[in-house]
Amino acid sequence: MKLRTHHDSEPESDPGDADLEAGEPSMSFSELRYLFRWLQKSLPFIVILCAKLITQHALGLAVGAGLFTTFLYANKSIQKEVFMQGRRSKLHCLWLLLFMMSSTLLLYYTFHTEALYYSLILVNPTVEFLGFWEMLWTVGVTNFILKFIFMGVKCLILLLPVPLVASKSKGRWYMLLEEIGQVYQTIAPMPLWFRYLVTYQEADGSPALTLGILLALVYLILKLLGLYGHWGSFQKTIRIFLSSQNNGLAATKSQCFEAGDICPICKAAFREPQALPCQHIFCDECIALWLNRERTCPLCRTVIADKVHKWQDGATSPHLQVY
Ligand SMILES: [Zn+2]
Ligand SMILES: [Zn+2]
Repeated sequence: MKLRTHHDSEPESDPGDADLEAGEPSMSFSELRYLFRWLQKSLPFIVILCAKLITQHALGLAVGAGLFTTFLYANKSIQKEVFMQGRRSKLHCLWLLLFMMSSTLLLYYTFHTEALYYSLILVNPTVEFLGFWEMLWTVGVTNFILKFIFMGVKCLILLLPVPLVASKSKGRWYMLLEEIGQVYQTIAPMPLWFRYLVTYQEADGSPALTLGILLALVYLILKLLGLYGHWGSFQKTIRIFLSSQNNGLAATKSQCFEAGDICPICKAAFREPQALPCQHIFCDECIALWLNRERTCPLCRTVIADKVHKWQDGATSPHLQVY
């Protein structure tokens, strides 16, 4: 009986002994179980806290959700328009351009006192001090607006008439733009974070300031290392952009005649016909657009390109650069 009460009063002693015998894994398991129990107990309080945070930052969250849905919509639409090539609707492209422009202007007009647009050109906004959440929000908003700007330029390229930019080389322009956009998006939050890290706890005195400078320097070094890592892929993009784009050899008249004089992709008479290594013939533009998305012949699936170069289909990376 006495033994039993001892067990009741110290229920943890048994698992503890077991942990000693079993070693590390069950130790961490019991800790996890403890954490889970703690979470279970404090769940109502976490919910209350979240509700408070949401109501406090309702406007900011709504703006974030709006920007995210605008981005998803525009990104998908641009990819669709690029894929539709000749049959694309100019009106839809104009509408997209107008839509992104008006949402950007509306946002900057709503928050005009904070002059958030400064962070687009790597200058800090006029706000005296940015708290952590405001900081994160400003960086996120700037990131979305930068995406919109580069997507807007993609829309403009889409609208450019063929004599200015050949349809088949537009894919490379989208790729180059996306690469430049990504580098700029990596650089854009640097002044904001730098200032945040340096001024952090400045009022507390010099030790905190020194720590702030140290943190900011570590941040700067990490960012520069990241940019250096990006440099390789940037160079590769430039090389692809400048290299001549030939997907096959110019097809002869007799080859076209044998193929029925109809391009299997656009179902019209051949324009600048190109014969792939598998001897299938397509219009130069049709096959170039196809190879922006696929690496095989559309008819026989023979591998034509080593790989599909990213971003040639007009897509924009959804990656949110918050640091
Ligand atoms: Zn064609
Ligand atoms: Zn083929």
